[in-house]
Amino acid sequence: MKNEIQKKQIAILGSTGSIGTQALEVISENDSLFEIYALTANNQVDLLIDQARKYNPEMVAIGNEAHYLQLKNALSDLPIKVFAGADSIAQVAEMQPIDMVLTAMVGYSGLKPTMNAIKAGKKIALANKETLVVAGELICELAAQHHVSILPVDSEHSAIFQCLAGEGNNPIEKLILTASGGPFRTKTMNELEHVTSAQALKHPNWEMGAKVTIDSASLMNKGFEIIEAKWLFGVSPEQIEVVVHPQSIIHSMVQFVDGSIKAQLGMPDMKLPIQYAFTYPERLKTNFPRFDFNVCSQFTFERPDLERFRNLSYAYYAMEKGGNMPCVLNAANEVVVEAFLKDKIGFLQMSDIIEDVLMKAEFVAKPNYDDYVKTDELVRVITRELIK
Ligand code: MN
Repeated sequence: MKNEIQKKQIAILGSTGSIGTQALEVISENDSLFEIYALTANNQVDLLIDQARKYNPEMVAIGNEAHYLQLKNALSDLPIKVFAGADSIAQVAEMQPIDMVLTAMVGYSGLKPTMNAIKAGKKIALANKETLVVAGELICELAAQHHVSILPVDSEHSAIFQCLAGEGNNPIEKLILTASGGPFRTKTMNELEHVTSAQALKHPNWEMGAKVTIDSASLMNKGFEIIEAKWLFGVSPEQIEVVVHPQSIIHSMVQFVDGSIKAQLGMPDMKLPIQYAFTYPERLKTNFPRFDFNVCSQFTFERPDLERFRNLSYAYYAMEKGGNMPCVLNAANEVVVEAFLKDKIGFLQMSDIIEDVLMKAEFVAKPNYDDYVKTDELVRVITRELIK
């Protein structure tokens, strides 16, 4: 019931994606604590309809306006407000009763709604890492200005966040992000020439959406995550290390100035970091499968291979260069991933094109919001030209 004010009112932006659907499961399992205020999706109208009928939110919004009538008609017997268009998603995020906004949409499209939610003083559970990649400085300034906390949902950043709990201002020496290495970890350069998008979509450990699965295979996901970590935890690029840990049980680590390393471990299941963001600083009992040291008795670690997976070096380059470079990196990547998913370019070509774009794009040292919008648009055009 909407007037039980003690229930946390949650808006899920991107409710039909992998994170969105898992967040709804977390909320179902804890329905005395949480209530869905708003659900938004971009294209998957049928699933959005099912979710709206099941969770009975105050409002729903669909990004693609072509689906508006179908959505409106399907929910006409319920008192749910229905909106359409990208702007409506950004507006939904700022509705007064919402306590927390889970940003689980894909890519650059998350930027505007996240900014609106922060300006409206909403707590952010951040799953859309591209927001911080594209405009980390702007987002962090806004969040500070509006006294809004950003709680990480990405498993690595949730792990670091959990390792930092109780540490007060103890200085961090470095953050160690773990990477599974993806499905192509052991492939040779020659084999990588011929891998297909279907192979890339088979991740060994994590169940995720198509975009982030391709990014995982190419290590761009880890590249984005180092940039995300820089902004979330206020460390410098030299303090961020990536280590490949194929078992994906250690989700990331923090090394403090005394040399002590803290790690967070668990089964690879996104429901845990989602729930932790919702309940922080508390922990709630779950029935998720537990890690068993008798089943997995060996943890291994290796250095990421920056020759086969160049995207990670491009991300370090963009992070160190700063300004609009991470925004350039993201826009180029969104375009090449789409082309790879449609089998228009090969796996290694994604990195070739990204490198070209990083060299060609105009550098803006201190971008404002409009500069990010312009950079994103221009880079998409440049990248599409290179794909032709
Ligand atoms: Mn991650």
